[in-house]
Order: sequence, then structure tokens, then C-alpha cells
Amino acid sequence: MSSNTPSSNTPSSSKKPPALLWFRNDLRLADNPALRKALDTGGPVIALYILEEGLDAPRPPGGAARWWLHHSLAALAAAIADKGGRLILRRGPARDVLTDVCVKAGVATVFWNRRYEPTAVAVDTAIKAALTAFGIEVSSLQANLLAEPFALKNKSGSPFKVYTPFAKALRAMGPPRAPLPAPPALPHGPGEIASDRLEDWGLLPGHQPNPEPDWAAGLRDAWSPGEAGAIARLSDFIDESLRGYAEGRDFPARSHVSGLSPHLRSGEISPFQIWHATAHALEAGTVPGRDIEKFLSELIWREFCASLAFHQPDIASRPLDAAFNAMPWRRDAKGEAAWRRGQTGYPLVDAGMRQLWHEGIVHNRVRMVIASFLIKHLGIDWRRGEEWLWDTLVDADAASNPANWQWVAGCGADAAPYVRVFNPTLQGERFDARGAYVRRWVPELADLPDTWLHKPWAAPAAVLEKAGVVLGESYPRPIVDHDAARRRALDAYEHVRAERTGA
Ligand code: FAD
Repeated sequence: MSSNTPSSNTPSSSKKPPALLWFRNDLRLADNPALRKALDTGGPVIALYILEEGLDAPRPPGGAARWWLHHSLAALAAAIADKGGRLILRRGPARDVLTDVCVKAGVATVFWNRRYEPTAVAVDTAIKAALTAFGIEVSSLQANLLAEPFALKNKSGSPFKVYTPFAKALRAMGPPRAPLPAPPALPHGPGEIASDRLEDWGLLPGHQPNPEPDWAAGLRDAWSPGEAGAIARLSDFIDESLRGYAEGRDFPARSHVSGLSPHLRSGEISPFQIWHATAHALEAGTVPGRDIEKFLSELIWREFCASLAFHQPDIASRPLDAAFNAMPWRRDAKGEAAWRRGQTGYPLVDAGMRQLWHEGIVHNRVRMVIASFLIKHLGIDWRRGEEWLWDTLVDADAASNPANWQWVAGCGADAAPYVRVFNPTLQGERFDARGAYVRRWVPELADLPDTWLHKPWAAPAAVLEKAGVVLGESYPRPIVDHDAARRRALDAYEHVRAERTGA
């Protein structure tokens, strides 16, 4: 890794001033328009990543995302070194770091790929003004979304609040541009620019005061952060799992989903690359169009969430439907702790929460169930769930996470109606009928027959005994009764309804 010592690489002999490429949520060399433009200047390129700090910094990553970031940066640094360059790492307020590096290195132009979270947009706008005042040019490019949030408007000129017309408008823009190849070489900037050591940033859990237990072990087994890992995952997905996606994506034990979300989140792969790779599969006739269509429609949900967050900056704290301010959320520390630990007594919920803790991910179907359980069975504010997933998901995204929580809560755009309360038992019986998912994550129930797996409390004593399950000891009894919880949720929702109707 880079160190505080000057680079030993030979700087480019170009007489042109250096260009600076500021990496953010685009940790890749292929399909990186800002990198391409920086190289096009013909000068050496300073590649910089900033661990942003300060009051106006974008939402800091949670624990699982910090783990990912560490490994993704290590992979990026190695890939840049392979091409003759060097990744400079610095921490602090982005504006101070950039000004310092640009002035010291005599940078003429700073290039970056645009980001869209409102806090980040504010940072970028302020930095652009500050650098311009120093006579440094800033050039920003589209790289991480197929459609930028300000590009799509409905007929009355407002941002879309409903997914289907948004998706239609995006598709009407025509096929996304072709992805760019990775550059063959990366001539690096002046050697004297100091860099932090990645290891000193303390992004890995082992650097915290209590390194035990090593909760990153499951993450290491499940993931390969970095651009190469992202490309390999995409190609495996297209070759092996995309066929059957439309049906299979809802079943958590089947491997029909892509697992691309954390790679997309950190920009190790772009939606343009994904779109074109699936288009090739369609042309080659290797995957039915139906599966590809469904997959692309999910990719467009990511764009829709980004658009919602862009247009409502406080999406993580304010319900899009203001009537939800009247919701009498409950406080239930015990229930919330049981939810976090995967000890609710509902096997599908517990399996999801344990997968989350172990692998930093939860299958989408199960995400809806765990979120619904917290909000509707326990009556706990969706924002508390959003924060927990922000800390524990490797794909925690400042737009998709709150937008989806609001969707489940019923207060978001195009949201599921609040009165739809997922029944975790029926969801389990439908989407994990053979129990492979629950048996994997809740092994203490593994020997229960399928009939009782999703409702162990209802199993006859002899069946429980044979399976070695002692309710209340080896596995909890349900912390709430489904029917009672449902009635309580609907009663609470009356406050929202009254707020809406003024009753
Ligand atoms: P695939 O099924 O392979 O889908 C491909 C891609 O489409 C995903 O990688 C993702 O980028 C996008 N996508 C799919 N579904 C959605 C969706 N509902 N909303 C937005 N984009 C979608 N997704 C995140 O990327 N980050 C989050 O922080 C996040 N938090 C969520 C919280 C809750 C409560 C819920 C219900 C969903 C959340 N999602 C989030 C959406 C979804 O669960 C994940 O994107 C998906 O499970 C990722 O797995 P995959 O890459 O295998 O998905």
C-alpha cells in the first residue's frame, strides 16, 4: 500500500500540468468517464481518494460499508499500481484536502464523476466554487446512474413520484451509452504528494477497541470487494443465474439474484456495464428476454430511489407522506434488540437478521419481511430500522435504504399500503417452502419437518422433542402474536388516516 514516503515510481515526463481525478463512489478503472477525461488532458494524473470528514461531509459509512471500503480501496490501489500509477489517500474535509493537493501539485483541472445524494451535491458545489476561485477548473461527468435525477421530469415538469412512469421515461431515453474500457496505463502525478496508509484509517473492525468477536469473518467468506470481484460476479450471474431470475428472484435459498448491490454502491461496476452485458446475453439468445427485462426493471428501481433522494434531501429522516408524522411509534427496546439479534421467534425474520449480521446482506424478499416486522409487528419507527441496516449492510445506500424503508412503512413514493402487513409465517411457507434458507441461518430448527419449520410454536410436543427444539430455551417463542400485532398496527395507522382526512 501507499505510505507517507514519496512515490518511487517515475513521474510522467509530460510537460502538461497534472490533472486530478477525485475517486468517490466510482472505485473502478473501466467505464470511468472522469478518468478518461483526466487522461485525455495528456498530463500526468493524480488519483486521489478522500475519507471525507467535517460537519458537512456526506453520511459517513456504517461498519459493514467501512469494511467494504477498506478492501475496495486496497483493490483499487493495486489496480492503479499495476498500470504504473499511485492512489493517494487523504482524510479530512474534502475541500481542504483538494485545495491543498491542487495548489501544491499545480493541478490545472479536477475531474470527478457526479454523485447525487443531496449532502454530497452540496459539498461538490462548494468545492467547485472554491477551486474555481483558485483558478482551478472542475469538470464533472455522468457515470453512476443511467439517468441523472434532474434529467427526468413528468409531464408537468416535476420529479416522478411513481415508479412505472419513471421507468418508462428512462427507457424512452434510448439505450444507455456504451461502457468505456479501462485505460492501458496511468501516468501518475508528481511523486512528492503525501498519502495516508490505508491501514491507519481504522476501517476494519479489528481496529476498534473490542476486536472480538471477529464479525468480519462472514463478510470475508461472502464477498470479494473490488472491480475484479464485481466483474466476476456479473459474469457468473449472467452465465449461471440470470436465466430464471423473473421467477427465482423471490426465493431466498435460490441463487437467482445478482449480489451486485455492494459493488454498485461503491461504484466498482457501473449500471452501463451491467446494462450492456445483459443486452449481449439477450442478443446471444442465452437468457430469455423476460428474465433480462425483470432484472433491468430492478436496476431502474435503484435509479428511482436515487431520484427520490435527490429531490427530497432528508429522505432518511422525513416521511415523504407528511401524514405519517402523526404515527404513534412505539418504544420497545426489548423487541428491537430481539429483532437485531434474530431472536424474534419468527424463523424467516430471524434467518434474515442473522444473514445480515453474518454476511452484511439480506435477500430482497426477506428485507421486506424484516422491515415490515419491525415497523408493523413491533410498531417501531422505520427510521430506527433504516439506521440499523445503514450500519450492517455492505450495500447500505443513502438513497435505496431510506427509500425502501419508506416504501415498506407505507409513507414512501409508490409505497406498499400500510395495511399490508406481511405474515412472516406465510411468507416463509411460500418463499422458503423447503426451508433451506431458514435451516441455514437458524440451525437450531434444522431438524424440524417442513410443516412446522416456519411456525415451531404450533408444532406438537413430540415433533419438537424429536427435532431437539425446546421453545423458550433453544429457540424463542414469538415475541408478539401475529394477529394481535396486526390489529395494533392497523389501530396505530388510524392516526395517519385521521391526519389525512382531517377527521
Ligand atoms: P438483484 O435482484 O440482482 O437486483 C439488481 C440490482 O437492482 C441491485 O443490485 C440493486 O442495485 C437494484 N435493486 C434491486 N431491487 C432494488 C430496490 N428495491 N431498490 C433499489 N434498488 C434495487 N438496496 C441497496 O442497494 N442498498 C440499500 O441500502 C438497500 N436497502 C434496502 C432496505 C430495505 C428495507 C429493502 C426492502 C430493500 C433495500 N434495498 C437496498 C433494495 C434491495 O433489497 C437490494 O438492492 C437487493 O436485495 C440487492 O441484491 P442484488 O444485488 O442481488 O439484487
